[in-house]
Amino acid sequence: MGTAETLRWMSFRIPQLDCHDEILLIQQLLSDCPGIVQLECDVLQRRIDIRFQPGQATGDELVDRLSRAGMTALPWQELDQQDVESFWQLHGRAVMTLCSGVLLLIAALSHLVASMDKGLVGFSLEAPSGAAVILLAGSILAAFVHVVPRALTSIRHLRADMNLLMLIAVLGAIAIEQWLEGAMVGFLFSLALWIEQRATERARESIKGLMQQTPRMARSVERPGADARELPVQRIEIGQRIEVWPGEQIPMDGVVMSGATYVDQAAITGESMPLAIGVGDQVYAGTLNVNSSIQVEVTHKSDDTTLARTLRLVEQAQTRRAPIQRWVEVFASRYTPLVMGLAVAVMLLPPLILPIVQLPGVSLDRIWDTWFYRGLVVLVISCPCALVISTPVAVVAGITTAVRRGVLVKGGEFLEAMANVRAIAFDKTGTLTVGTPLIEQLVPIGETNSRDLLSLAAALEVASIHPLAEAIRSHASSEEVEYSAATDCTVHHGEGVTGSVAGEPAWIGKPSWAAEQAELSDDVQQTVEGVAAAGLTTLVVGRGVQPIGVIGIADPIRPETDQVMAELRQHGVGQLLMLTGDGDAVAKSIADQAGLESYKAGLMPNEKADEVAQLKDGKGTVVMVGDGVNDSPAMARATVGISMASIGSQHAIATSDIALMSDDLGRIPWLIDHARRTLRVIRQNTTLAIMLKLLCLAATIAGFCSLWIAIAADTGATLLVTSNSLRLFSR
Ligand code: ADP
Ligand code: MG
Repeated sequence: MGTAETLRWMSFRIPQLDCHDEILLIQQLLSDCPGIVQLECDVLQRRIDIRFQPGQATGDELVDRLSRAGMTALPWQELDQQDVESFWQLHGRAVMTLCSGVLLLIAALSHLVASMDKGLVGFSLEAPSGAAVILLAGSILAAFVHVVPRALTSIRHLRADMNLLMLIAVLGAIAIEQWLEGAMVGFLFSLALWIEQRATERARESIKGLMQQTPRMARSVERPGADARELPVQRIEIGQRIEVWPGEQIPMDGVVMSGATYVDQAAITGESMPLAIGVGDQVYAGTLNVNSSIQVEVTHKSDDTTLARTLRLVEQAQTRRAPIQRWVEVFASRYTPLVMGLAVAVMLLPPLILPIVQLPGVSLDRIWDTWFYRGLVVLVISCPCALVISTPVAVVAGITTAVRRGVLVKGGEFLEAMANVRAIAFDKTGTLTVGTPLIEQLVPIGETNSRDLLSLAAALEVASIHPLAEAIRSHASSEEVEYSAATDCTVHHGEGVTGSVAGEPAWIGKPSWAAEQAELSDDVQQTVEGVAAAGLTTLVVGRGVQPIGVIGIADPIRPETDQVMAELRQHGVGQLLMLTGDGDAVAKSIADQAGLESYKAGLMPNEKADEVAQLKDGKGTVVMVGDGVNDSPAMARATVGISMASIGSQHAIATSDIALMSDDLGRIPWLIDHARRTLRVIRQNTTLAIMLKLLCLAATIAGFCSLWIAIAADTGATLLVTSNSLRLFSR
């Protein structure tokens, strides 16, 4: 087996992928194919992702294997997602279901009229006339055009799936000349499949709908002053200039080169708050240019924009199934064969046993027919359709609704985990605080002056992306202090930076770490304590073994923080805690302002992770909220890592399980509510589906349930659970 780097992913669209049954089939088909390491299937996208060893398997071979089972595998990248499906693929089932229903209705009416002519009221058990039989046969055929090929595939692979079950049930009904019931089963099953297809499509479209927020054309400006020319976004290269008029959506990611305007980023952050944008600012595809024309230099190709990457993560989210989803799948895969066995038992055992035991009051008249029929009903009941479809639709509805609110959830499992949060640990800088710190104090030591101090600090901080580093660099720029990047820099995560400035070793970092770089005299210690006592993050700067100054940086707390903490407590989150690498004095002041009962200060990134690991023993979900700077190990260790990611921070988005694109802590309580809502819907659906099955099963054995009632119950359940799931979209 190769290392992670040598393995490759390949994605296909499988138009025939509709149900969990087909996933099992694909798994079976590919199970003995050498070189395949991992297989992810996503019914909603009709997509499979295969991870394989390039030398041992080829794309052609995989396509070949799948086509032998009647599946077309289209390479995902080559698809224009808009129009891969023909009219027939999209609406064939609806048309045939309608045909089947109309034929059934005509046949039923004519049968009724015929019965009334004979003086009988309602349906009689006698066989319908020749003409009615032809109509009913037509109805069955129409209902089963889409089912038969799949049922045949299942026979070839010796698998019991619902297509096969229904085919057997209908053939059985025909065998005992119950044409009317057979046609009803056919029609209602086809209707259930169509409802299911509609729901899946709705979910699929909601994801596509997010993507369609970006325009397909951009106005390209060849050279300054020239007129703009409309081009498809795919043809625009990095570095090219485009023009965006007021009221238009920005088609690509880029940097503003001329003009100033307000931009509404609701498409990505879910928050419609116009942001002032000027020359040099980054703008994102999908956001709205509110009030005046701007020119933008494109920084990313159209398939690599922030929105496109985010949506790819949403698409992939469905492959990370929620535990409850897996439970339903396992349940369904055991339930079906079990009930099939029961069906056979119902057909055979009573006719064999009842004549021997001779119970009083039990008639032995037509005993084989009666129990064969009841067996067929059990067969119909064994179809787990409603059960299997409801969960993925609910999960997708949950995830896309969250994305619309600017919360990127990377998998059903994280959504489910959020319903059950026990403890949340917060990083300080950039998470509880605004994360754009400001320099409050510059205290030079000895012969240094504050400009030299700032220059040296900024030179070192070029190497770091820490918010503190950015604060120092931008302070230097605004004070017009010159600096050139230090060389040989090492970023000591959670501690500071070392490097070489003008040929001399230099360093900047937190006091406890600085004490290892140089001896800090009592004077210096006192300065440090003074700055820290003011509630400021304190950094010591030094050259060689000589401290040259102390910098005090303020990072105000986010205004919404204490409100959010109160809400989280109301939501039953038992433990709220702050983890920080910063000093104790600052930590205490921030924790107090945030209303947090406990905090741990002076932690290295791996110690933050250890703290999270400790929280984890016990029940319930442990969440780590951070900004991706020095807290990724802790986020990875938590059950769920949430990043405060303003749109631009791809790193934070990449390293977390859930990203708050709007950079708003208030979304966490909302998310907990939302996750609970989603889970509640799933539980309602599974309970309803299972109860209904049990009820039908009992009724059948008691002899009260007919074929058409069983299938109508299943179709009704499918309708109920899918609409229940789709309700989540309206949140
Ligand atoms: P937090 O837990 O508050 O997010 P970090 O773990 O990111 O803090 O960093 C802890 C401490 O390490 C900071 O408060 C700072 O003193 C020091 N530090 C980290 N990175 C840098 C840097 N690039 N320059 C200077 N000091 C740094
Ligand atoms: Mg941090």
